[in-house]
Parts: sequence; structure tokens; C-alpha cells
Amino acid sequence: PGKKVLIVYAHQEPKSFNGALLKVAVEELTKQGCSVTVSDLYAMQFEPRATRNDIVGGLHNSEAFNYGVETWEAYKRRGLSKDLVEEQKKVQEADLLIFQFPLFWFNMPAILKGWMDRVLVQGFAYDLSKAYDGGLLQDKLSLFSFTTGGSQEMYSKGSISGDIRYILWPMQHGIMHFCGVKVLEPHICYAPAWVSEEKRKEMLTAWTQRLKTLWKEEPIDCSPDWYFK
Ligand code: FAD
Ligand code: ZN
Repeated sequence: PGKKVLIVYAHQEPKSFNGALLKVAVEELTKQGCSVTVSDLYAMQFEPRATRNDIVGGLHNSEAFNYGVETWEAYKRRGLSKDLVEEQKKVQEADLLIFQFPLFWFNMPAILKGWMDRVLVQGFAYDLSKAYDGGLLQDKLSLFSFTTGGSQEMYSKGSISGDIRYILWPMQHGIMHFCGVKVLEPHICYAPAWVSEEKRKEMLTAWTQRLKTLWKEEPIDCSPDWYFK
């Protein structure tokens, strides 16, 4: 109760299964007394491209554009574009970040990847020698909640698609852990389009049930072993 949750949501259609997962999460967390903010990226027409437009005012080096350097410098002088500042404020205030999306090409949809690229700026999310356990977004939790087209069998070790954990390495370790954010077990709904209506209802109930005891969960040990052992 009283915890702040930011749900970064990447699906175009409210009637989708991802839309249903978002809805039950907002309902359950609100019921618990959490304050829930949703960044509905497609509805916001969130800009995924990392460009010059993210810097307000003059560039640090206008001869040769370097996105990482320019956003870092702009962050320090409070010169990042308004949409980025707003997202950073939501992240800063949140105790828990939930990412809700359909798996696209073994990864997050481009619009969500663009959110990561643009919001988690140097100086804000990490800095020189302030990465991984020293990252700047400590005392926060993250949870990747996503759906797939492939079945659970396809995403097991030794199967055609390999262990689903291989896919989580860049997202959980490369992004969240790098920024100092702790990682909870992912929540994966396999192949919602290919199972029965009854099974889909069960998946929605399972997500609600998990959220009921979420605050008692321990983060995973986010080291190479968790992913590749
Ligand atoms: P939907 O198709 O919206 O929903 C499935 C079913 O649930 C629908 O029948 C819907 O009506 C129903 N539903 C909605 N709400 C409810 C409710 N409240 N109760 C019960 N039923 C409900 N998959 C992979 O595994 N690996 C990949 O690499 C991959 N790459 C992709 C790349 C692209 C570009 C695209 C477009 C898809 C890719 N996919 C991949 C498939 C994709 O991950 C799935 O299509 C997606 O995860 C399904 O989620 P959804 O929310 O869109 O489902
Ligand atoms: Zn890690």
C-alpha cells in the first residue's frame, strides 16, 4: 500500500490480451492502495527515435553529433525535451516499473526499446562507474510482463527457440540491472492467441494472483548464471 507503480505499456489495441493484462494489473494494484501511472506508448505516440530533437537549445558539439554525449550534457543543464523529462519524472517517483508488451522478434517492440534508449539517459539512470549494482536507479524494482506467439515448449532449453531466459538477458541484465534496478521474476503468457478462452481467463487470474503477493517477492539473482546456466 502506498507504493508507486509505473506501467510502461506497448500495445496498439486496448482489446488485445496485453490490454487485458494491463487492465487487471491497474485494477489489482489500485485496489491494494498503490498509485499507478501508465505510459501507454502508442496512445501517447511516443517518439522512439533517438535524435537531435531530444536536446533543447545548443549542442555541446555541433560539428559531429553524438547522442550519448549530447543527452548526458543536456540532462546536466536541464535541457532534455519535455517528453523525456516527463518520463524520467515518472521513473524517479516509481518503486516498481512494469513493462507490458507482446514479444516482437525475440525482443520488445521498437516503441518500447525507444523508450529505453531515450529515457534512461546517462547522468539520470547510470553514470561513469555508476552501473550495475552501482547504477543510479537503485531501490527500484522492475518486472517484464509479456506475451508470445510461441508456446512454452518452444521456449525451453534445447528446443527450437531456446530458453526464454536468453531473451531476457539484454532487457533485464543489460538495461535494468545496468541502471541499478532490481529485477523480479518475469511474467510470461505464452501464446494467448492459440489457447482456449478458458485458458486465457486463467492466465489473467494468475497475473492478478501474482500481483497480490508481489511485494513479498525477492528479486532474482541477476547474474549470467540465471540466464545461461
Ligand atoms: P491478441 O491477439 O490481442 O489476443 C489473443 C486473444 O486473446 C484474442 O483472441 C483476444 O480477443 C483475446 N482476449 C483479449 N482480451 C481478453 C480477455 N479479457 N479475456 C480473454 N481473452 C481475451 N512471437 C514470438 O513468440 N516470438 C517472436 O519473436 C515474435 N515476433 C513477433 C514480431 C512481430 C512484428 C509481431 C507482430 C508478432 C510477433 N510475435 C512473436 C507474436 C506476438 O508476440 C503475439 O502475437 C503477441 O504476443 C500476442 O499478444 P496480443 O496481446 O497481441 O494478443
Ligand atoms: Zn543482472
